[in-house]
Parts: sequence; structure tokens; C-alpha cells
Amino acid sequence: LIEKLQTHFLSHSLQAKMSRPVQARRLEGIDKNIWVEFVKLAATYSKVNLGQGFPDFPAPDFLREALTRTLSGGNHMLHQYTRAFGHPPLVEVLAQFFEKLLGRDLDPMTNVMVTVGAYQALFCCFQALVDEGDEVIIIEPFFDCYEPMVKMAGGTPVFVPLRPNPPKDGKLMSSADWQLDPAELASKFSERTKAIVLNSPNNPLGKVFSHGELGLIAELCVKHDVLCISDEVYEWLVYDGKQHIRIASLQGMWERTVIIGSAGKTFSATGWKVGWVVGPDRLLQHLRTVHQNSVYHCATIAQEAVAQGFQRELMLYGKPESYFVQLPKELQQKRDWLVQSLDGVGMKPIIPEGTYFLVADISPFKSDVPDDPNSNEPYDSRFAKWMVKNKGLAAIPLSAFYSEAHKNNYTNFIRFCFAKEEATLKAASDILQKWKQEKTSS
Ligand code: PMP
Repeated sequence: LIEKLQTHFLSHSLQAKMSRPVQARRLEGIDKNIWVEFVKLAATYSKVNLGQGFPDFPAPDFLREALTRTLSGGNHMLHQYTRAFGHPPLVEVLAQFFEKLLGRDLDPMTNVMVTVGAYQALFCCFQALVDEGDEVIIIEPFFDCYEPMVKMAGGTPVFVPLRPNPPKDGKLMSSADWQLDPAELASKFSERTKAIVLNSPNNPLGKVFSHGELGLIAELCVKHDVLCISDEVYEWLVYDGKQHIRIASLQGMWERTVIIGSAGKTFSATGWKVGWVVGPDRLLQHLRTVHQNSVYHCATIAQEAVAQGFQRELMLYGKPESYFVQLPKELQQKRDWLVQSLDGVGMKPIIPEGTYFLVADISPFKSDVPDDPNSNEPYDSRFAKWMVKNKGLAAIPLSAFYSEAHKNNYTNFIRFCFAKEEATLKAASDILQKWKQEKTSS
């Protein structure tokens, strides 16, 4: 009898499982994700991983010491829940810091919220601000999660590309050569537009938007009463003396902008997943509703240690010892090193003005990875897979940062992450040089 009952329950539960659709409609069409595939490929085949964007050098001593102090110090309450919208010491120091950067008074309780990385900040923005039928303008190429996040909120992404202009006099291209066409950008704004996503410095190109470009975006936002979701996670990683300009500081923009930041990128500790939003209470109050009803808050000890990191940086603001001064200097050297080694083998780099990333033209290496006219996978994606499997070098295809409709317009580029130890960059350069030699001798 027991056996019969077991069989009955088993077949019943199987039937129940199989008879109804389990997937929510909002997930239709967004269930594929290139990171799952490329992270796995890199883990399986890569000897050198310049794919995903994280440093392989240690986070700064002062940050690690802050975490150790937090863990071993006397305050056992740091192991318990803290305030949902941000651990008080962290929102307080963030408010002080951003008061300096934006030149306006901020209330730590209403103008700042701490999130689980910039990722959750983005999620809160789309869930809180985008309705069914709203359009959200996304500048291509873009950090890939913007598109599914807009769709999950019921919105419609509207894409506008940065268009490359050929460099003059045989010079290497710069990320500044990728520009918006003002008329094309203006044509994307309509009554249905709720928001534009701006990412400066931009992942994957490393473009740092100029004052003029930001002015154009700001003018259109004000004219059409559109919000700006400003992803500024690479705000400190800007090179060659360039300035990162915060669009919220342009006229008419504070009221309509949410600034997003990340301790992961700011302090080279991407695994900590501490992020934040800064903006007017009028917008943040709705983000708080999403946050409160989804994750509540991120680890108290991580927030406490990041708060101590910011307190140090506030004291050293603008001084040579500041991490926010030192890190871009170090990364600029790494960028220059990778630019040189790529240029040396003919994989023409687009010199990035900021970020962890560099995009390079794979054209001279294409003969090793023949095209397959029957495949609808973009060529750069097949190239990157071939490269990691056959050469042990992991990178990310640029087409991954384009919408489905435009993926096949940009298939000659791959993205490298140069936030790596010198030895890692040297190993990558050795692989490329050997590959080049094999090509010339065959
Ligand atoms: N925005 C951009 C442009 C990014 O590149 C990343 C991380 N790769 C994020 C947001 C997410 O940041 P976090 O790790 O803090 O969630």
C-alpha cells in the first residue's frame, strides 16, 4: 500500500509540475545572458582572463583593515540588521562627499540610499520609475543589464548608437571618436519617453561624455520632462587629466536625475556588492519602496567598512595619497601598456578615456577564425569563444553590448579588462605576440 501511495504521489506531483507554465510573462525573451556563457568559458579554458570586469590586484590596505576592525572590534551590533535605506555612517559620509562633488546640500536620510551594488540600484530605478508602456532611451553600446531590467518593469527600450568617426592621420581611435548624432538622439525623445540611461564613463568603450554632449542630453531631458538614470560607477576612473562631469550638476537636471555609484569599482572590491544612489527625495522615495520590499539592506559590516573608506577619502580629498587619485594613475599605466601591446600585434585598440575596459579591432586576426554564413551568432562572439578555447585568452565580444536588432552592426571588436596585475597583462601580451608570430610564419 505504501508503495502504491508513493507512486501515486510521485506521478501526481510530476503531473502538477508539468501541467502549468511556471515562467512569469515578464521574463519572456530575457532569459539568455551572455555572462553565464562567457564566465563559464573563461573558467574552463582561459589561462589569462581579461573578460569580466574585476581587478585581480588586492583592494587597498585601508579598506581591508577597516573590514578587519569592523569584524574584530567590540561593536557586536555590526553583525545585526541596520537601517534599511543605508547604514547611518555610510549615508552620512556619502552625503558629505557628494555635497562636495555636486556643490549642494544633501540630507543623508532622503538624498542617499545604499544598495546591493550598483546592480540593485539600477533595478530599483527601473522598478520604481518605469511603467508599462513607458519608453526608456539607452545609448549603445551599453552595460547589458539595462535592457532586460527595462523590460522586466514593463517598459520599452529605445536604442540610440554612439557612432564611430574614423580617426585622422592614421592615429589610433579614441573612445571620444564615438559620438551621438544630435538629430538622431533628439528623434528618440517623445511623449512616451520616461527616462534616459546615461553611463559615463561608459562600459564597454571607456567613453567619458564631454560637457557639450551632456548639455545636449540635459536639454532634451528638460524639454521633454524626462528622467535621467546616470550610472557613474567608473566616476573615479578617468585618464589623461580628463574630468568626469556629473550630469546632475547641469541646469535643470538635479530634480530629474538619479546618480548611481559602486564601492566595488571605487575601492577595487567588486565582491563586496555595496552601491548607492544619490538624488532628490521626490525620486528616491519610490526607490526606497522597491528596496524595502525586495532586499531590505546589504551586509552591515560591508557598509561600515565602506563608510570608513569614504571617511579616509574625505580627509585626503584631492591629495596625492587619496585612493581616488592613485587608482586612476595606476590604471592609466595599465591601459597604456595594453594599448601598446595590442597595437604592436596589429589588434588596433580604441584608447579609452576612462573605466576598466578597452575595445580592440580584431580584423587582422580574422583569417584564423573563418566566418560561418549559416550562423546567426555575431562574428565577434564566435571569435572570442575561439580565442579562449584555442589561445587561452578570455575577452568579451562588443556585440554583447548591443540590442538584438543592432548586434550584427558591430562584430569586429572585443573588449578587454585591463584592471589587472602587470603579470596578467604581460601574459596576455605574450599570448598575442606568439599568435602573431605563428600567423606570420605560416
Ligand atoms: N554599471 C556598470 C556600467 C557596470 O559596469 C557595473 C559592473 N560591471 C555595474 C553597473 C554593477 O556594479 P556593482 O558590481 O556595484 O553591482
